[in-house]
Amino acid sequence: KATVAIVGRPNVGKSTIFNRLVGERISIVEDIPGVTRDRIYAEAEWLTTRFNLIDTGGIEVGDEPLLVKMRQQAEVAIDEADVIIFLVNGREGITAADEEVAKLLYKSNKPVVLGVNKVDNPEMRETIYEYYALGFGEPFPISGSHGLGLGDLLDEVVSHFPELDMSEKDEDTIYFSVIGRPNVGKSSLVNALLNEERVIVSDIEGTTRDAVDTKLHRDNQDYVIIDTAGMRKRGKVYETTEKYSVLRALKAIDRSDVVLVLIDAETGIREQDKRIAGYAHEAGRAVVIVVNKWDTITSNEKAMKEFEEQVRAHFQYLDYAPIVFLSAKTKKRLHTLLPAIQLASENHTKRVPTNVLNDVVMDALAMNPTPTVKGKRLKVLYATQVNVKPPRFVIFVNEPELVHFSFARFVENRIREAFGFVGTPIKIIARKRQ
Ligand code: GDP
Repeated sequence: KATVAIVGRPNVGKSTIFNRLVGERISIVEDIPGVTRDRIYAEAEWLTTRFNLIDTGGIEVGDEPLLVKMRQQAEVAIDEADVIIFLVNGREGITAADEEVAKLLYKSNKPVVLGVNKVDNPEMRETIYEYYALGFGEPFPISGSHGLGLGDLLDEVVSHFPELDMSEKDEDTIYFSVIGRPNVGKSSLVNALLNEERVIVSDIEGTTRDAVDTKLHRDNQDYVIIDTAGMRKRGKVYETTEKYSVLRALKAIDRSDVVLVLIDAETGIREQDKRIAGYAHEAGRAVVIVVNKWDTITSNEKAMKEFEEQVRAHFQYLDYAPIVFLSAKTKKRLHTLLPAIQLASENHTKRVPTNVLNDVVMDALAMNPTPTVKGKRLKVLYATQVNVKPPRFVIFVNEPELVHFSFARFVENRIREAFGFVGTPIKIIARKRQ
């Protein structure tokens, strides 16, 4: 999937345009604190093309002077995007700050589409020709607040997307990423895996821009470890900011089948861990929770049970994720990790036969009467699995409004008991059928 970044000096309307383009897609699926607030990265769609969108305005590095800030935002865009939307304000003309941004973008070799924002009425369209002077070809008049002109702008943006290389993703390979707050041991874990015996390793250079993915082969299974922020420290200023790490983590999650959520056994669970784990869950990826630095804990059954209870209490929405305890440093229990990833991935792509599924669901309902709401009883006619990655199930019912969260959860639990979807979220969708 291509990535588009919006750059421009403050107040030209970057966030307004971002929200317009992302539209309904920012929706709070579940009430996970802090997950969906204040987004700078989201999926958008134009006609049939999906892409990821970055609002670089959200990446702020302390109290830097304006020009430094803009330079950093432009660098993020240049590093992370396939196409850049350069936004200027149609009511102010070209400013010195616009010219500074333009200079950085000239050097980037990335396609740049120039959007002239705040062109709220047709008469103003006559005035946008002066923006040709910025040197990015045709300026596109748009109005973020009125939602005008975005279609033409997006046509141009999409026309610059790189050709999709279908050979890039191999169906038999498990793509996984390692996420977690700084210092939980992400790079240590990846290095430990790469240095393990019986693992064959090769770098896949430039898979996407400057990200470097690594290929592993172990026990007849191919894996690709997706490069994440913090794994290769390059030392640019913005790389140390939390927003930027979140952005990189979201990009990595987007390309993953399985996400490893790393937790530090030594420091215990922190607020930031929960936010990061929430991203993986929201994206519908398979998840394995990895408790690292287990060498610092006097390890016994009881310690493990206690830590597991804490994890379960803090990450309730990840109740399907297996927990692996290990030490990247001593490599203790490291051998349990790849099998857990493999199992989670298998379940993420698993399909169950419709007849068996229906037996399970109908048996469960025979034992537990369906709920009634205002005197009306919910009737379930049949169930079928419609998708994988993650598995989605449609239950056809008389009245979809009668299917509340608790009933969907009940069905989910019966399906999990019968088919064992360890490691993957599953979705239950109710549809009307008489
Ligand atoms: P990252 O920021 O998540 O990539 O974390 P690093 O891999 O750079 O590790 C942060 C620190 O934790 C380093 O000092 C590592 O040596 C240490 N560390 C990583 N894994 C382990 C572990 O399993 N046990 C112990 N005791 N220390 C670890």
